[in-house]
Amino acid sequence: MIKHILVAIDGSEHAKRAALYARDLARQTDAKLTILVAVKPPSSYLIPPFDAVAITASTPEPGHLAAAQALIDELIADLGHGRAVPQTTTGLDPAEVITSEATRLGADLIVLGARGLGAVDRLLLGSVSDRVVRHAAQPVLVVR
Ligand code: ATP
Ligand code: MG
Repeated sequence: MIKHILVAIDGSEHAKRAALYARDLARQTDAKLTILVAVKPPSSYLIPPFDAVAITASTPEPGHLAAAQALIDELIADLGHGRAVPQTTTGLDPAEVITSEATRLGADLIVLGARGLGAVDRLLLGSVSDRVVRHAAQPVLVVR
């Protein structure tokens, strides 16, 4: 039933836990796994370690892209996969990028951390995970 999992990461420990959970779920279900980092200004990175990598960017800042690439490289090393094929798209905010890319790529499950880099203890859900849960067309799994 689960064939393609999209996990969105922002470099936080929350997102790392989400990615490891998504990896294990992908292994158990034999699903494809795509890793996405949405970079501001409008650009994003997509990495499916099980087959292709889609790198999305319109007007990326080199520093942001380098940081996203470093995150992806680190995660792929942890996941034990990695082969990259860049693609491009545009997106203004991370939640919008995550939901639209999930649909465009045909993902049937989105995995996110409950919070991210902005981690403020009073929040149960960060604004990105909140918006993705509200707006995604696919089921969303939030990892705490
Ligand atoms: P806020 O950003 O509202 O201050 P926060 O940073 O604590 O709060 P979110 O940004 O909602 O929380 O992060 C929750 C999860 O959403 C992260 O663990 C990650 O899975 C995903 N996420 C957040 N930002 C991005 C991003 N730029 N690209 C990809 N995934 C992201
Ligand atoms: Mg955030």
